[in-house]
Amino acid sequence: MSIARRIKRLGTETAFAVSREASEFALKGNKVFPFHIGDLNIPTPKNIVDAAFRAVREGKTTYCPSAGIDPLREALARDINSTHSTRYKMENVVIQPGGKPVIGKFILSLMNPGDQVLYPSPGYPIYESLIEFYGGIPLPYRYREGKEGFKLDLEYLKSIIGPSTRLLIFNDFQNPMAAEASADELKELAELVKRYDLYVLCDEAYFDIRYGGSSNSLASLEGMESRCVILYTFSKKFAMTGWRLGAAVAPEPVARTIAKLNTNNESCPNHFVQYGGLEGLRGSSRETDNIINILRRRRDRAVEILNSVKGVRCFNPETTFYLFPNVSEAMKRKGFDSYERFRKEVLLRTGVSFCTRLHFGREIKGEKEKYIRFAYSGIGIEDLTRGLNCFKEFIEH
Ligand code: PLP
Repeated sequence: MSIARRIKRLGTETAFAVSREASEFALKGNKVFPFHIGDLNIPTPKNIVDAAFRAVREGKTTYCPSAGIDPLREALARDINSTHSTRYKMENVVIQPGGKPVIGKFILSLMNPGDQVLYPSPGYPIYESLIEFYGGIPLPYRYREGKEGFKLDLEYLKSIIGPSTRLLIFNDFQNPMAAEASADELKELAELVKRYDLYVLCDEAYFDIRYGGSSNSLASLEGMESRCVILYTFSKKFAMTGWRLGAAVAPEPVARTIAKLNTNNESCPNHFVQYGGLEGLRGSSRETDNIINILRRRRDRAVEILNSVKGVRCFNPETTFYLFPNVSEAMKRKGFDSYERFRKEVLLRTGVSFCTRLHFGREIKGEKEKYIRFAYSGIGIEDLTRGLNCFKEFIEH
């Protein structure tokens, strides 16, 4: 059987391969410390679970409108307006089976084959995969280490924009670097977007995962609402990764196009699951707030241990549940040049499983430093402490 040629252009999320390797290692009776994947080992708040079960019992088991149920679209428009100072209406919101489908539907709606698309590297690997799959030209832009965290390299970004650059994918509260832009950087980025007439995917999967300060959106800036499509997800904030519930929040013509793509793909998002999401937005936030408290304790502990490891340097981000320590010196001390050899050896010797920079898009010429990603969303604080101490022991001895 010959598989269609276009599939050759499709990439994947290689973190799932690391996951498989870790499971196989565990099946052989080894202890694994899972830092490799951005899933949560925290249960979905009970009020959300109850609302979804109630919806099933009440017969919300049929098809529903392709853009999702009206009360959820309305509640989400209101919720986003309250945090973004925007003026979205229900018509701007198209419910999706997760946040991820927004990436492909944004590209399909606004990119013509041959258009160039700016995207972050390191970044969520699906951007690169889908830009190429749909016939676009990927233009990776980069970040650099600042004083307190990773900073968008705006000069570099400006230098790669060309006449066929049409789209920008911007993931503030960034995976894997946990980077966030300052107000001045957002302003400068908005100016660039307007000057070069770009449309933007604001991937805000981690907008609400915050331990201090407040999140700001590019879509909130003057003239940007009509140029931005927001990727919203229930996955992280409400610990609902497996429910598959998210949304595209977009200017009306784009929202209508995305709803048409829904009709052609999945018909409609899962009907009763949307009532769970509605409860998340409207109901008690007691359990949801607790998710952040749990994650904050894990972040504090992980940053403390990582910064005590010789040859490791780690920022203390106020957002996401990822850490992206610089391990250049540690790898050198242990005699590793290859990311994959290092990752596999650490897994074998300590059971600590993580992703490396290689899992987040192609490297940009001139990259010298070495980084690995620890996700602390799927590991309890005791195992987190044990695992990172094993990692420390491995590096230092
Ligand atoms: N965007 C980013 C940056 C992510 O890290 C993820 C998941 O890890 C997603 C989007 C998609 O998440 P979901 O499809 O579960 O909403």
